Amino acid sequence: MKVVRGGTVVEAHWSGPADLLIDGETIVAVLAPGAEADPAAEIIDATGKLVLPGGVDPHCHVGFTSGEFTSLDSYRECTTAAVFGGTTTIIDFAIPRPGQQPLEAAEIQRAKAGDGLCDSALHACVVEWDDTTAGQLATLADAGIRTVKMFTTYAGETMADEHTILNTMQTTRDLGGMVVIHCESDAIVTDAQRFAAASAGIDATHMAKTRPELAETASVAAILAIAESQQAPVYFVHQSTAAAVELVADARKRGLIAFTEAVAHHLTLDDTAYSGSDPERFVCCPPLRSAEIVEGLGRHLFTGQITTVGSDHCCYDTAQKQLHRHDVRHMPNGLPGVETRLPVIFSHYVGGLGLTPSRFVELTAANPARTNGLYPRKGSLMPGADADIVLWDPDLEWTVTTEALHMATDYTPYEGLRVRGKPVTVLVRGTVVVHDGNLVDATPRGRHLEAAPLDFRLC
Ligand SMILES: [Zn+2]
Repeated sequence: MKVVRGGTVVEAHWSGPADLLIDGETIVAVLAPGAEADPAAEIIDATGKLVLPGGVDPHCHVGFTSGEFTSLDSYRECTTAAVFGGTTTIIDFAIPRPGQQPLEAAEIQRAKAGDGLCDSALHACVVEWDDTTAGQLATLADAGIRTVKMFTTYAGETMADEHTILNTMQTTRDLGGMVVIHCESDAIVTDAQRFAAASAGIDATHMAKTRPELAETASVAAILAIAESQQAPVYFVHQSTAAAVELVADARKRGLIAFTEAVAHHLTLDDTAYSGSDPERFVCCPPLRSAEIVEGLGRHLFTGQITTVGSDHCCYDTAQKQLHRHDVRHMPNGLPGVETRLPVIFSHYVGGLGLTPSRFVELTAANPARTNGLYPRKGSLMPGADADIVLWDPDLEWTVTTEALHMATDYTPYEGLRVRGKPVTVLVRGTVVVHDGNLVDATPRGRHLEAAPLDFRLC
């Protein structure tokens, strides 16, 4: 038995002083502060700390291969960085390589997950529909893989056509799952890239102009129409503008089950990064937007229209980012961020702008667990939940540097940023894994999580 004593417990729907009783890997009781517990229980002192459910990162690419590039981390490396950052569940993607089927891609990615320090789950991915796809999706759902990633861009690689998207929505809906979709109009993006290449230039300094906001809103509107035609639930990954978020919010008002994910870098960084000294380090899709758009997006953390905050972690290093920096069409897209997601969002939005700690937990742990069939085992501190627990010091000030982090790359987009708030003790299923900045237990205890059929009453 263990007791987490003296802290402020923060749940998505409730917060207050309370102690947590842990038996083995599970939380078994929420106790009044200082309540009598088993005298033999080990006491974990949480005085002055927020006690949060471990973060659930709904969008995390581990060792992801796209074209000539593979992102640099293994499950062990990615989950080590995750737990240092207060995240105890990651959800990775099984994106098929050219010629690969969704089932095969999921089997390969799942086999890599054995040496993780914390638990993980998978999103499948469909690129092209054929007469085996429905059967593969049923097999995946039986194995607890119910969310299916799709793309409306990257023609010739992962882009799916509208027939494929409609069929996949219909099938996943009937299997208790959901399509999770990257929306950018490939035609608008391709045209903007062609124009940039023929005029101002297409190197990393011009990244923002190569993927305009309209490409995103146009695609979101088209996909919402398909989802509405099927009454199929749909989850939009990394929405980067308030306009895109509001299209989804309007569809929800019409009765559609639809969700918005925003990612940490779109909420905290802006396109001035592309005129700085290392523009290629900030190349991601959708790109970083103007400060005004970032502010508008961030406002929806407060209005309730953003459902989850993910990282879209992609662990490339500077050499990979620099190789084709003269032409963003050939660059690897994505930023390292599994470790910084919680600290930068907490510092900027909770400490800086007054977002409540409960809403922070809802966005970064509870809702990602709910939309992925993992709640209340993950994303909650209620009895019966896995004892994935973060003791968070809300007042600890520190400077983000590559040296202070543990991701398998040589940079962070937040280098030099002063932040307030840090996870100091992290438990994975009842075991203290991180304490006072040290990895105190490196046992690979990560398990593959099977998603339950999605229950949208929880969302
Ligand atoms: Zn992604």
